[in-house]
Amino acid sequence: MTEFLDLPPLTAARFAAIEDRVAALLRTRNDVVVMQGEALLPLEAAVRGAAHPGSTALNIVTGPYGQTFGGWLRDGGAKVVDLAVPFDTAVTAEQVDQALRDRPETDFVSLVHAEAATGNTNPVAAIAAVVREHGALLMLDAVASVAAEPLLTDAWGVDLCVVGGQKAMGGPAGVSAVAVSPRAWERIAANPAAPRRSYLSLLDWRERWTAAGRTVLPHAPAQLEMLALEACLDRIDAEGLDGVLARHRAAATALRAGVLALGTLTPYVRRAEDAAPVATTLRTPPGLDAAALAADVLRADPGVPVQAAGGALAGEVLRVNHYGPAAAPETVRRTLAALATALRGRGLPADTAAAGITG
Ligand SMILES: *Cc1c(COP(=O)(O)O)cnc(C)c1O
Repeated sequence: MTEFLDLPPLTAARFAAIEDRVAALLRTRNDVVVMQGEALLPLEAAVRGAAHPGSTALNIVTGPYGQTFGGWLRDGGAKVVDLAVPFDTAVTAEQVDQALRDRPETDFVSLVHAEAATGNTNPVAAIAAVVREHGALLMLDAVASVAAEPLLTDAWGVDLCVVGGQKAMGGPAGVSAVAVSPRAWERIAANPAAPRRSYLSLLDWRERWTAAGRTVLPHAPAQLEMLALEACLDRIDAEGLDGVLARHRAAATALRAGVLALGTLTPYVRRAEDAAPVATTLRTPPGLDAAALAADVLRADPGVPVQAAGGALAGEVLRVNHYGPAAAPETVRRTLAALATALRGRGLPADTAAAGITG
């Protein structure tokens, strides 16, 4: 299987066509820049491009990624107001509205749509309306929401929308994309601190690629990753985006219901409407280490997409990554069965009959 080593170079036209298909997926007419790196690359490029020295940014923290953005904004010299909510909830449009009223000078808002790490999702449509009314720019990390739940970049008025292929799209992790509105381009171009002549520079991409007719690529294309991205767009088209979204929603709903029926573990995100379709997080009972339980689950069935949560939650929260091809009834069933085996192995109850699984 080495035929992928002998491919002709990816043309600029094909690269541009893939960008256009990502734009269609994001429901945007804005420029889409596909960047050659994991999604942290366009996220950092967008935040550093927008972080004006002396400006005020509202950074909404609903999980670990929001914390990361705050650091980049501060590096760029912006005054950062963090609006943090407990990670087992979602932020509300009212909270964002209040934060903007408290700091009327705010001209940039960063928000994560869904957080795979904590399993919550935020009501972007309502939040974006509030941000728009205030006149600020909105940056959205949609890495964990694209292809898992509706993402309407232009209808909502998202100025910088970042996606990656590796979650619900079921695609590669090595290329990712950002949609940039005209207002966002203006802001970045006017920012003396925006990266220039740098791999992090959106302005370089605009100058050398997007605004230059997309005829000559500025760097050698990450060819295998681009072909993988194209293949996963083909797959999404074949299934239909609505079908892909419904599959993720159904997996999340079934897993949450199954876990509640099993008993012993509880959904970490309190309200079902705040739970992300991309991944479900589960709280272990006091005294039961989540990393140890995750190891037991994987011993019971190495094929299920279970891991311990990261960072501060690692001891008490498990994460089920039912995204991409894993957003399927069979994966949910196997995950519930493996959870039941692991819990019983520790002498804890697991009501498999109530959960509708055998074993
Ligand atoms: C997965 C994810 C990313 C991508 O980052 P990795 O840590 O490399 O997986 C970015 N933002 C959010 C909200 C994510 O869920």
